[in-house]
Amino acid sequence: MSKLRFRALALVSVAIFTLAACNSGTNEGSPTPASPTATATGTPAPTPTSTPSATATSTANATAAATTAPPTASQPPSDTAPPVAPVTILSPVDKDHALPPDYVPPGLAAIPPAYLAPAFGGELRREAVDALALMLDDAAAAGHDIRARSAYRSYAEQERTFNYWVNALGYDEAICVSAMAGHSEHQLGTTADLTSPQVGWDLLESFGETAGGQWLAANAHDYGFALSYPAGAEDVTGYCYEPWHFRYIGEAEAQAWKASGLTLNQYLLQP
Ligand SMILES: [Zn+2]
Repeated sequence: MSKLRFRALALVSVAIFTLAACNSGTNEGSPTPASPTATATGTPAPTPTSTPSATATSTANATAAATTAPPTASQPPSDTAPPVAPVTILSPVDKDHALPPDYVPPGLAAIPPAYLAPAFGGELRREAVDALALMLDDAAAAGHDIRARSAYRSYAEQERTFNYWVNALGYDEAICVSAMAGHSEHQLGTTADLTSPQVGWDLLESFGETAGGQWLAANAHDYGFALSYPAGAEDVTGYCYEPWHFRYIGEAEAQAWKASGLTLNQYLLQP
């Protein structure tokens, strides 16, 4: 084999290995990271952005993968991404479980303006819109003006959102408050960020201390919604506390999730 040909083969092997690492489900290095939108906690001070370079992420992936399956030119890594199962409203979506970039939920419907924060718009799957309306009507009856500020986000929108937070907060903060493209529950069309006038219609941790935020935490499961990122579970969920982020999984599932005491993805990933 000529030197040149050997070098070409070696380069191809490296390229294949890098792609396999990217497909393994970890959030780093995905060629199209995207993530949850507006999740500013309001606390992190903006720091100079350090957008991860392709080189840095490739190296990180290679390092991570090498710990489990040292690749060699003659023995490519055997770990491959699991087959993509049909996406349902119960599909786990987190830093290790991604949605296909072209996944668009069926039956998206506009959230009526009465349930939207001023000047915001949004869509969810029809059943989630109906459940949201019922929940927010009951919240209003209990004295809490709660509305949605963001809902369905496409893969491309999530990518822009994540990049926005990387630029605003730096990569290390961004991955705590936002998801990379393909790794956001918002792409499912079942997830909404809720807020109230008490927090200026913003997405703040202090929403969880308001009466409305506490009403949601105590009652959302009865309407089919789960709080994906609770306080104190950052090490499990990979995300900062987000008292505003609720995902619709259906009433029976949400009640079973609540009774389980597990985080949402722990619940969804149970055998
Ligand atoms: Zn959210």
